[in-house]
Parts: sequence; structure tokens; C-alpha cells
Amino acid sequence: MENCLFCRIVNGEVPSVKVYEDDLVLAFLDLFPINFGHVLVIPKEHHTSAATIPEATAGRMFFVGARIGAAMRHGLEADGFNFHLSDGTTAGQVVMHAHLHIVPRWADDGFHWNWRQLKYESEEKRIELCEKIKARFKLVRDDSELAANNAACDPEYHSPLANDDPAKHGG
Ligand SMILES: [Zn+2]
Repeated sequence: MENCLFCRIVNGEVPSVKVYEDDLVLAFLDLFPINFGHVLVIPKEHHTSAATIPEATAGRMFFVGARIGAAMRHGLEADGFNFHLSDGTTAGQVVMHAHLHIVPRWADDGFHWNWRQLKYESEEKRIELCEKIKARFKLVRDDSELAANNAACDPEYHSPLANDDPAKHGG
């Protein structure tokens, strides 16, 4: 996708500091890290959402991410690492090419996820929400999701990020 920053990184038009690359995925250092050494793992093929990434590539992303996490423990003396993926603008996705964040963590890094723990009003409500998800769950990729990804790859489609400052590409 010509206007996609990460596709341009994949095809070498935009330089990156690479950690790992194979036929399916590319891993490189995030330019504006949560912690120093923060890595992004992306599919080489353009996918706006993680939901359209083929299983082999999605599996490779997770596997490579976990191995990079292990390398952060050994190479950076990290105490642990976080996986993070923002899917959709509302979720905080900034670059519209799916990417998995691997964030090295240290006991004294001063970073905290803004986590919260809600409580379901009833067991019935909890089961109702589970049933709503299950009713639409399928392991086969959805045609409408694939169509949306194809639309985003349309050469007539101009990403608002195309000429954007990479400085803003955090999410
Ligand atoms: Zn892309």
C-alpha cells in the first residue's frame, strides 16, 4: 500500500533499525519508545486490522514477539516485557498497518498501564456478553473484514498519515 508508512518500511523506502526479518514478518525499533528497546512486529503484507492477518503470519508475529521478549531479558537485562496491539482508531491505532508492540520492562521504569477492573452487574450479564461474542466468532476470516482491508489498499485511498511526521507514529 503506497501511502502506508509501514509498507514503505517493508519495501525499504523508509529506513528502519531492524531486529528480525523473514518472509512473513519484520521487527524493528519503534522510533518513539515507551521504554528504550521497544520493538514493533508487523506483517510484511498490508493489513489494516489484525483480524485479516492469515493464521501463519499472525502466529509468526506472536512467536517472533515472544522470542524478542526473551532477547530483551537476556540482551537488555529487562525484568519482563509487554505485548500491546491497538486495533482501530478508538483503540489508539495510529499507523493503519497492524503492528504488535513488544515493550521491555524494568522494575524501576516508571511506566504504568492505565488498567482498571470493572465488575459485571450480574452473572446473567456476563453470560449474555459471552454469548454475543460466541455467536459471531469464527476461525475463518470474515469477507467483510477482508473487503475493508482491500479498500484500504486501493491506490485511490489516501491515508491521512501519508505525509505525516513519523514522530507522531506511536500507536
Ligand atoms: Zn501497510
